[in-house]
Amino acid sequence: MNAFTYTRARDLGAALREIAGNETAKFIAGGTNLIDLMKENVERPTRLIDITHLPLREIEPAADGGVRLGALVTNTDVAYHPEIERRYPLLSQAILAGASPQLRNMASVGGNLMQRTRCAYFYDTATPCNKRAPGTGCSALTGFNRYHAILGASEHCIAVHPSDMCVALAALDAVVRVTGPAGDRSIALTDFHRLPGDRPDLDTNKRADELITAVELPAEGFREHYAYVKVRDRASYAFALVSVAAAVRLDGDSVAEARLALGGVAHKPWRDREVEASLRGQRPSRAAFERLAETLLRGVQGFGDNSFKVALAKRAVVRALTVAAGHTREAAA
Ligand code: SF4
Repeated sequence: MNAFTYTRARDLGAALREIAGNETAKFIAGGTNLIDLMKENVERPTRLIDITHLPLREIEPAADGGVRLGALVTNTDVAYHPEIERRYPLLSQAILAGASPQLRNMASVGGNLMQRTRCAYFYDTATPCNKRAPGTGCSALTGFNRYHAILGASEHCIAVHPSDMCVALAALDAVVRVTGPAGDRSIALTDFHRLPGDRPDLDTNKRADELITAVELPAEGFREHYAYVKVRDRASYAFALVSVAAAVRLDGDSVAEARLALGGVAHKPWRDREVEASLRGQRPSRAAFERLAETLLRGVQGFGDNSFKVALAKRAVVRALTVAAGHTREAAA
């Protein structure tokens, strides 16, 4: 591990001043990913700015009837918060499908968004990796790529974003609040993470000198009809091969609105609003869900080890929508 200096920010202004103009400084909160990356020499910050004492630990009502999650609220506190369990059970379910209780007790909302891919080559500094060392190549393209992307990849990087929480947040149309030298701004969760393109070293559209302050959930939480389906190699403490967050609003016998976000398949939580809209007005049925899954993944191919994910994703989509459409809180009780 490289030498670095450590400072604890007293307030938001101090945190922003500490990072301004220092491209090798990093904010640290729970540290559940950053510390691992530092141990492996992948991240080598010269300065760590501890933000754990900033007043960003509240879960509170948002102006539009939604809920605001402070950036430092732990994953555990979000998942078990009575208001989140009652109004946004999809989010609770997704968080509890991720990591381990110990990690969820440390990991923060903001850190979950900022975590980096778990591509094995990214962690192995002896191998070429465009994300870690731009211009060196992508070892996963022709190497071990079982866990890699089938959607939105580029010739420069085929990594996936590892979060479960972000998949549910994408389905719920959450909004990320950030602050920086130019003031506050909002970024839709679906625009927060990037596709790799020719800059796989950039994971997000947040600037390095900006700090996440909160994630806001809209009023609609799809509490009646939702499902988070995660397919993985082990029953717990494993990243998704494919995950699907599905939410449905029914009007009588037909679908008034459907939301679908996929994890484990792309550099960001994957949504296709056109495909979602195709369900509108249809009666929920296996046939309708299979047509949707076929459309969503038409023509998609993998890179060898991960080619099985195409069929897996189709089945996971059908299962998630079937559970969501049939799910009622009464049935779940
Ligand atoms: Fe690096 Fe991305 Fe290729 Fe993995 S997939 S080796 S992170 S460039």
